[in-house]
Amino acid sequence: MNKWRRLLIDGLLAVNRLVSSGEPLLRTHNASVLVFAPHPDDEVLGCGGTIALKAQAGARIKVVVMTDGRASHRALIAENDLIKMRRAEAKDAALELGLTAEDYIFLDFEDHRLHQYRSAAIDRVFATIEQFEPDEIYLPNRRDKISDHVETNRVVRAAVRRTNRSARLLEYPVWLWNSWPWTLGNTRYASDKVRQVLGTVRDIVELVFMCRAKVNVSAVLHLKLAALAAYRSQIYRFGGNPRWPVLADVADGEFLRRFKTDIEVFRRTDHHP
Ligand SMILES: [Zn+2]
Repeated sequence: MNKWRRLLIDGLLAVNRLVSSGEPLLRTHNASVLVFAPHPDDEVLGCGGTIALKAQAGARIKVVVMTDGRASHRALIAENDLIKMRRAEAKDAALELGLTAEDYIFLDFEDHRLHQYRSAAIDRVFATIEQFEPDEIYLPNRRDKISDHVETNRVVRAAVRRTNRSARLLEYPVWLWNSWPWTLGNTRYASDKVRQVLGTVRDIVELVFMCRAKVNVSAVLHLKLAALAAYRSQIYRFGGNPRWPVLADVADGEFLRRFKTDIEVFRRTDHHP
């Protein structure tokens, strides 16, 4: 990595630490937590350490996986086989985090197309929130770049507004980290240079100044890494196939390294009816 980019990253992370509000999250045996993941693996990438800490404290936790994950390797494996594979991986990840397979709820909307099922998705999420009555709700960050991630954010926030309940929302970044300067960035969505620069500035502001709730997960980082490794289809090349893409391919590994650190960050908002 370029020396100046490295220095800039260190500086931005230092600013984020300065404006952060410590560990405001509930970690008690009577806390209840719902985690919404667009795809099987996002819950581990974005907040696996936080989940493990809460599980150790005895909090009630459910992970809701919005889509079936069929699309990540569609050119290389039958969709139904991949769906089964990723579901089995999620159950293994659950055990590593200190949960059970029954703590995962699969809504099975079609991967890559959640936006086509918005109304049905809001209904399902609303029903889950009503049933579980969470104190905290984890969801992908509103600027998380990938369509299913941004859509999950919209769906969950719409469902929360429909309830008459207070809840703390914590938005975890995943693909937002695939922005300059953290990586060389994914620029394929930018139609021109000005939009690209503005988008980059907004991404930096979101990560550094809006994601101010942070959790030190160093005590359970080994559990998070074990849960991540349980997602074999995303971490290892299936059958040794060199064309099988894995998360370590993204930005030459810079992206994946963001999730192997001691800190998880969240944008926090307290919702009151
Ligand atoms: Zn995802």
